[in-house]
Amino acid sequence: MKSIRFILIFILIFLVGCAPPPSYYQRKNTKRTKMRKLKIGLTKTFKQNALTLKAFGSYNVLVNKKAKGTLHDGQTYQVGIYQGKRVVIAKQKVYDKQIYLQGQTGGEILEINGVKYRGNFYIEVLKNRFKVINHLELEDYLYGVVGKEIIHSWPFETIRAQAVIARTYTLHNLNKHKEDGYDLTDNSSSQVYGGLNAESDKIRKAVDKTVGEVIAYHKKLANVYYYSSCGGHTENIQNVWYIKKSFAYLRGKRCAYCRTAPVFKWEAKLKFSEIKTVLEKKGYKMGEINKIKVRRYFKSGRVRDISIHWRGGAFSMKATDFRAFFYKHLKSTMFKLNNKRDSVYFKGKGFGHGVGLCQYGAKGMSDKEYSYKTIIKNYFPKTEFKQWTKL
Ligand SMILES: [Zn+2]
Repeated sequence: MKSIRFILIFILIFLVGCAPPPSYYQRKNTKRTKMRKLKIGLTKTFKQNALTLKAFGSYNVLVNKKAKGTLHDGQTYQVGIYQGKRVVIAKQKVYDKQIYLQGQTGGEILEINGVKYRGNFYIEVLKNRFKVINHLELEDYLYGVVGKEIIHSWPFETIRAQAVIARTYTLHNLNKHKEDGYDLTDNSSSQVYGGLNAESDKIRKAVDKTVGEVIAYHKKLANVYYYSSCGGHTENIQNVWYIKKSFAYLRGKRCAYCRTAPVFKWEAKLKFSEIKTVLEKKGYKMGEINKIKVRRYFKSGRVRDISIHWRGGAFSMKATDFRAFFYKHLKSTMFKLNNKRDSVYFKGKGFGHGVGLCQYGAKGMSDKEYSYKTIIKNYFPKTEFKQWTKL
């Protein structure tokens, strides 16, 4: 006889008092649009087989668009997986492979494993793990992105600039992960999104003060990027991602505003043996490394190619590839290097790829009283400000 196995079942329902009224969190003074909700993959849930949900406001539990249950305001629910393939909430409610949690009024908040989020939630079981996708409105999403991608104490105009660029990035990258069922992830492979936990009044105000605003080039959404600091010179997009297409507004230029960035200058040391181990794992073949050289620089001061040497051989590789393998050590490709005994020593500038908005530069410009529009025009010349609904 086959035994039925509960892989993870949690029984408890905790009653928690004093949940704040949902309306407390609702956006004010912003336009609602007809755009579909964004779908954001909550990547931390992808490794989980148990979730703790706490509802602020009530949610309908939908299976195939039909209401099958309710998550009640103020209650906590333990969610597990039944027989490896179905969502079970609080033991007795076994649902399907996929459920949808839909807020009853639209202003609800759901806490998932300690992080609060706006919007609705699609929960699926895949190979005995959860996949949670947060469905929410663009401007609500931006609160949780700008709050995570910028330092809250920074000047208001810097935060407004970040809001416009994050909105432009989002709309330009819709469907980036369509095959996985979402638009963007919540981590640095898209934009870091921290839900309501990342928000503050100042962040919400900065997003609201730019509501709907994006930048465009030739009446099309601009292709935008941002990073921490450029080290004194931004970079051409082609020099980083080796794409053929050039963008008039993504060309390297001097930046005099990010000198106060904490990693404006950085140093690193890598042992030859460590480099060999990592590169061999990536499929490169070599002898015992005895030297690393810079072969060519770009005009910006970023390294274009390096060469790896050993007795009787050498090969060269793109500095961007090399940095990707050692990204924890190398903050950018803007570096000079020295070989000493068994190691190579780097002295570098800037943090990030250098394409588009220099965040510390934007902060430096705000400190000099420049507006968010002037900041954006500096880093994305020739672009225009538009309402995305008019594009
Ligand atoms: Zn800069």
